[in-house]
Amino acid sequence: MTWRLFRFFLFQLSGAFLGRLLIPGADSGRGTIVGLVAASTLWVLIDLQRGSRLLLWLKRGETSTPANVGGLWGEIADRVRRLVKARELKAADSEARLQEFLAAIQASPNGVVLLDAQNRIEWCNETASEHFAFDPKRDLMQHLANLLRDPRFSSYLAGEDYGHEIVMMGPRSTASRPVSLAVRLHGYGEGRKLLLSRDVTALEQAETMRRDFVANVSHEIRTPLTVLSGFVETLQTLPLNEEERTRYLDLMAQQAGRMQTLVSDLLTLSRLEGSPPPGASEWVPVQPLMIACEQEGRALSALLTSAHGKKHVLQVQSAQDYELAGSRNELLSAMSNLLNNAVRYTPAGGTIEVKWQVLPDGRAEFSVRDSGLGIAPEHISRLTERFYRVDRSRSRETGGTGLGLAIVKHVAQRHGAELHIKSQPGQGSCFSITFPAARVRRIAAP
Ligand code: ADP
Repeated sequence: MTWRLFRFFLFQLSGAFLGRLLIPGADSGRGTIVGLVAASTLWVLIDLQRGSRLLLWLKRGETSTPANVGGLWGEIADRVRRLVKARELKAADSEARLQEFLAAIQASPNGVVLLDAQNRIEWCNETASEHFAFDPKRDLMQHLANLLRDPRFSSYLAGEDYGHEIVMMGPRSTASRPVSLAVRLHGYGEGRKLLLSRDVTALEQAETMRRDFVANVSHEIRTPLTVLSGFVETLQTLPLNEEERTRYLDLMAQQAGRMQTLVSDLLTLSRLEGSPPPGASEWVPVQPLMIACEQEGRALSALLTSAHGKKHVLQVQSAQDYELAGSRNELLSAMSNLLNNAVRYTPAGGTIEVKWQVLPDGRAEFSVRDSGLGIAPEHISRLTERFYRVDRSRSRETGGTGLGLAIVKHVAQRHGAELHIKSQPGQGSCFSITFPAARVRRIAAP
């Protein structure tokens, strides 16, 4: 500033000196004043010109290039330029942070919707637009209540009690593919809201399965238990002769056996679900499995056909030279479940064929074909569900638990194998397990 004042006075002095030089003699005093006035006017004019150049520069908004203005105005222009630049850098930094923040929310597995004070959508991530079928561009600034019309959600949004989440059906939900969403609102800022959503379809399905499973188990146990306690009461209260007592005790033993089979199948299933899959290094010869399975099948067939004149025709192929990698107990359980089912659902006199076949690509197939009742196509995809039965009464009469094929499917999956079912009502069925080539080998010659 001192330098500037010094320059101003120097300019005035030069003007006065020049005036004095130009008007010498007696009028030298007037010359000094004229010089002074001329110097001041020139100073003001130069200043005005610089000021208007600065104004023009500011108006053009070209603050990234220097103003090319000298003097005080030049310094002001420089300061303004530096300030603007600093602001721009800060704004760019904030923008970059905002973009990073939005990218992080975008990557979230949960849906996020930002709402303004009027519940209009300000922003939403891709997961939210997927969950709520929003169009991320077209639906911006739309009222949420117009887009989500689920009555539970509408009353939740209107209720303003956001201390809990609600579960609603997703707009894309259909009867064949239900979608459940857990949504929760959080208030922030001045009346703004954050809507978070999670896809809980799998959780809801697991919960429904768990409830159904408990209900099914209770039902399966309650029936024999009711029969058992009825007989116990009869034995306790009625004077029975020896023959009646024996008959009742036989029936009681039957019901107790039924419960035992159920509990044992449940334990097998829980073991299959809770243990690591069998390794591929333990080799089990197939032939002893076929023999054990055949013995069990023949015993069951003898039991079930004892009252009829005819028996089942049971043909079992040899699998002499082969080994399977996996768990012996699991494989035997799966194989005998298939053969026992064939025996149970094939009337006496029917034919049952058990085959072991190595396919050209190295895979191996264990199959059980029967000439029994067969199954209608609509049931086939559901047979491996727990407690799913096509023929309830036959299943119970023959000691079924409704868990056999669920066990078979689990065992197959744990061995990397596939269960295939082919059946036609009245024309018998064929159940086969196809093992991957990596789990099949020929027994090396001794
Ligand atoms: P269950 O103990 O009732 O036999 P499974 O899970 O073994 O239970 O089988 C499910 C249902 O599939 C059975 O109830 C039966 O209706 C049907 N099923 C299974 N195997 C056969 C078969 N070989 N022939 C006809 N129906 C079968």
